[in-house]
Amino acid sequence: MDEIHVDNLEVFAHHGVFAQEKEKGQPFYVNLVLYTDTRRAGQQDELTRSTHYGEVCHLVTKWMQEHTYDLIETVAETVAEQVLLTYPLVQALDVEIRKPQAPIGLPFESVSVKIHRGWHRAYVALGSNLGDREKYLQMGVEAMKERKDIRLQKVSSFRQTAPYGGVAQEDFLNGVMELRTLLTPQELLDYLHEVEQRAERKREIHWGPRTLDLDILLYDDLVMDSEHLTIPHVDMQNRDFVLGPLVEIASWVRHPVLRMTMGQLYERLISGATAAEAAADSARQSGRIIR
Ligand code: AMP
Repeated sequence: MDEIHVDNLEVFAHHGVFAQEKEKGQPFYVNLVLYTDTRRAGQQDELTRSTHYGEVCHLVTKWMQEHTYDLIETVAETVAEQVLLTYPLVQALDVEIRKPQAPIGLPFESVSVKIHRGWHRAYVALGSNLGDREKYLQMGVEAMKERKDIRLQKVSSFRQTAPYGGVAQEDFLNGVMELRTLLTPQELLDYLHEVEQRAERKREIHWGPRTLDLDILLYDDLVMDSEHLTIPHVDMQNRDFVLGPLVEIASWVRHPVLRMTMGQLYERLISGATAAEAAADSARQSGRIIR
């Protein structure tokens, strides 16, 4: 990714834990790295194809002068969010906030906080088999439009499927959506749980009936396991009601562990091969030995 740099933008502002810092103010220095694709702007010599660094500097200055925070961590976090929300061509950025006159009472050159933030692409599965199923799925989709840090990109069609997991219950309605988001995986999961709760979901039987079930399938190329979250979703490669809708909106997206596209995984699944065989095949293709 190409980079646009701003070095040591000086902003006189009023951030700090001490009352005196909020009253008197002091100079802050801002370093920015904007990650963006400059190729078309470079080829066409056309500013509208790029991000106007002058405007970015004015936005950052105005933001820092119109707000007062205790922490430079918060200054960095909010500056990053403002730039990402305002400039669509900026995929990610580094923000460093330096505070050379911080009240430390010892000789030092500067203190600073540096963060990296950006947009992520996530695929989320929707499922319902209780009540007005279509209304609940639609509720899940609409909830993604409520937040500025989530941008709904695509929604698959909804399809009816027989229940999974051996519990006798109504058929499911399933779909998948693609999001761009500034949220971390855990923050996204927390929001999905909040939306499930709004649909009055009761967690009574594992794999039992539910008004709305929202699962994170993929989050960039991330591979992670924590107590509450496994990404990619642990069973997605075995579920035709997940892969089918995914093929509609993202057949070219590659599973970061199995190294097969959604299209290939779906083909495998409907032709009856197990995921283990698929993984073994894929590993063989990439030259690794499986015993
Ligand atoms: P479920 O019954 O499908 O809603 O899943 C229950 C729990 O699975 C959630 O509370 C999560 O903590 C956990 N979980 C693990 N990985 C994921 C994932 N990729 N997406 C959603 N939930 C997950």
